[in-house]
Amino acid sequence: MATRMKLKLKTVFVLYFMVSLLGLIYALMQLGQRCDCTEHDIPKDRTISRLRGELHRLQEQIRKSEATKQPQKPPARQPTVFVITPTYARLVQKAELTRLSQTFLHVPQLHWIVVEDSPHKTPLVTDLLVKSGVTYTHLHMPTAKDRKLQEGDPSWLKPRGVEQRNEGLRWLREDRRAQPGGDNQQGVVYFADDDNTYSLQIFEEMRSTQRVSVWPVGLVGGMKYERPVVEGGKVVRFHTGWRPSRPFPMDMAGFAVSLKLVLSNPEACFDGEAPMGFLESSFLQGLVTMDELEPKADNCSKVLVWHTRTEKPKMKRRGGSARSGTGFRPCGGGLRDTHTHTHNHTHTHIHTVKRTLLFNAA
Ligand code: UDP
Ligand code: MN
Repeated sequence: MATRMKLKLKTVFVLYFMVSLLGLIYALMQLGQRCDCTEHDIPKDRTISRLRGELHRLQEQIRKSEATKQPQKPPARQPTVFVITPTYARLVQKAELTRLSQTFLHVPQLHWIVVEDSPHKTPLVTDLLVKSGVTYTHLHMPTAKDRKLQEGDPSWLKPRGVEQRNEGLRWLREDRRAQPGGDNQQGVVYFADDDNTYSLQIFEEMRSTQRVSVWPVGLVGGMKYERPVVEGGKVVRFHTGWRPSRPFPMDMAGFAVSLKLVLSNPEACFDGEAPMGFLESSFLQGLVTMDELEPKADNCSKVLVWHTRTEKPKMKRRGGSARSGTGFRPCGGGLRDTHTHTHNHTHTHIHTVKRTLLFNAA
């Protein structure tokens, strides 16, 4: 009996031990398992499947749009506008060229040809052009002494910027000759004085010039504006305050010429000896007839360029009194004026010029 009891107890212990061991093994196995977090995973799984669906949809869209896309042509290159600007050293030169360059920065496909009225390229213009960010060519051509306006001369006495515009044309013809396409190159030539005001739209108007395009110019010839008068899409006469009988009674800022026409007429240039008001005509006469002019700016009904003129600043002496303009030719950064004038003027004046030089070169 006692032996049977012992055996039973032993069995109970063994069983108990076995059950505990199994429990322990089960518990240890559970430790390595991920918990059953199904409930937490449901929103996450939903987001993932939603994003998968979205991705699939977008991939489908891209595939479809690529299948229907036409083979893309490279954008057609628009004709370059070559802008020829004569400029000369004076107090306001840097201001004028800064304003102009910052307008040109907004115009695509523009090549600025700057021609200094100077026996050499000045550091001021050189530096300004380098920093401008505009595509440019820097030239120089001094005006012959007998053709140059003298201090105190009324501005209408002699034409200004003639040799410089012709030098710009000479460079352009020579440079283009080296390019493929010969006389048949796309492009437009425009003469932009450094003191005028140009809207950006005028450059887009002129870009399609076939031969010679024309448009109104504001604040010129003592008028609010001058303009070609257009009837039936053709220029029939000119609205101008002075001598409408001139072949082309227009301001320099009021026309552009196609590069083709400039290249196929290698002799066309400005005549510095032309009578007053005939400078523009001297260039255009051999190139085009009135009937062929292409009116722009909404049939010449909009003013997009102004013949503004900058007032000459009145410099004060050190003592504070205003300087009379005579004989005072402040230098716009070029050395020429310092050399020419230092021996003619007072100590104070030399200082003024030197100060200007330092200031302008800054
Ligand atoms: N110009 C020049 N040398 C001069 C005077 C003027 O190169 O001795 C340039 C000037 O910078 C401008 C253009 O020629 O780009 C026309 O000159 P200006 O504006 O004085 O002429 P206006 O407006 O009186 O016709
Ligand atoms: Mn001017």
